[in-house]
Amino acid sequence: MEKIIRIAVQKSGRLSDDSLSLIKECGIKFYNGTGKLKSTSTNFPIEFLFLRDDDIPGYVADGVADLGIVGQNEVVEKDKNVTTMKALGFSKCRLSLAVAKGQEYNGVEFFEGKNIATSYPKILGDYLKSQNINADIHEISGSVEIAPSIGLAEGICDIVSSGSTLMMNGLKEVEEIFKSEAVLIANNDLPDWKKEIAEKLLFRINAVQKGKSSKYVLLNAPNESIERIISLIPGMRSPTILPLAQEGWSSVHSVLNEDQFWENIEELRAAGAEGILVVPIEKMIL
Ligand code: ATP
Ligand code: MG
Repeated sequence: MEKIIRIAVQKSGRLSDDSLSLIKECGIKFYNGTGKLKSTSTNFPIEFLFLRDDDIPGYVADGVADLGIVGQNEVVEKDKNVTTMKALGFSKCRLSLAVAKGQEYNGVEFFEGKNIATSYPKILGDYLKSQNINADIHEISGSVEIAPSIGLAEGICDIVSSGSTLMMNGLKEVEEIFKSEAVLIANNDLPDWKKEIAEKLLFRINAVQKGKSSKYVLLNAPNESIERIISLIPGMRSPTILPLAQEGWSSVHSVLNEDQFWENIEELRAAGAEGILVVPIEKMIL
């Protein structure tokens, strides 16, 4: 039998597009026809299972899948035994408590003895316990934000990203209780050969992520300012300096974090840099 590992990804939802883009950016090819539940890569020993996100932590814990890409919120809520290998930086959101907009609110004690509707009873329960609050948790699986207006609960605990859904439903966010992003999880007992494949995938993910946060910068500068410019954009080992056809000028090439670039842009220009180009990097291996 061919040695391949299985990774569970969300079939369709807020994680799906970014999960599959990441896999593609890792150079892993596969066919993703609509409605397919399984697919095998043509150039990497990996098979994809397309599942509901709620089921991913459980399948990975049970070994049905070896790896999974899922929100931290689901990993913590489902409380399964899995290893988190890497935070992936997308599907960032938070779990927050919210109450009706007109409700007077002076602190988390508000929730003492109240009903709170949520799809995250474990995370909410742990939070309330940590705050010494006794409240009734109403577990519902969707449309949590309508609970207060239909008299089901005085508060809700749900996922927020921009806050517009809360606003549309006449609610205000009052406490942030959990921060989440997509993570790569693994079964705790992978045999060595599967670990090796997982590490290969992780290596590629790291290269893609580093590339994304870095830029290749090219600029022209008079030779007398080169030293100053090098100190501003030191690069990976050191910048490349190439002479321009015009006497007394050089081209400086460097790799740097995008934030670092913006922080230094005025100083670079003041030092005499001109014709500055900032180019995206696809992959970066240090
Ligand atoms: P499924 O049908 O697979 O069960 P779902 O409806 O439970 O999907 P989605 O709404 O697709 O879940 O959200 C999947 C995950 O994406 C959430 O668990 C959370 O980690 C993250 N997420 C949810 N809402 C947002 C948002 N507004 N912005 C960013 N990330 C989000
Ligand atoms: Mg779900």
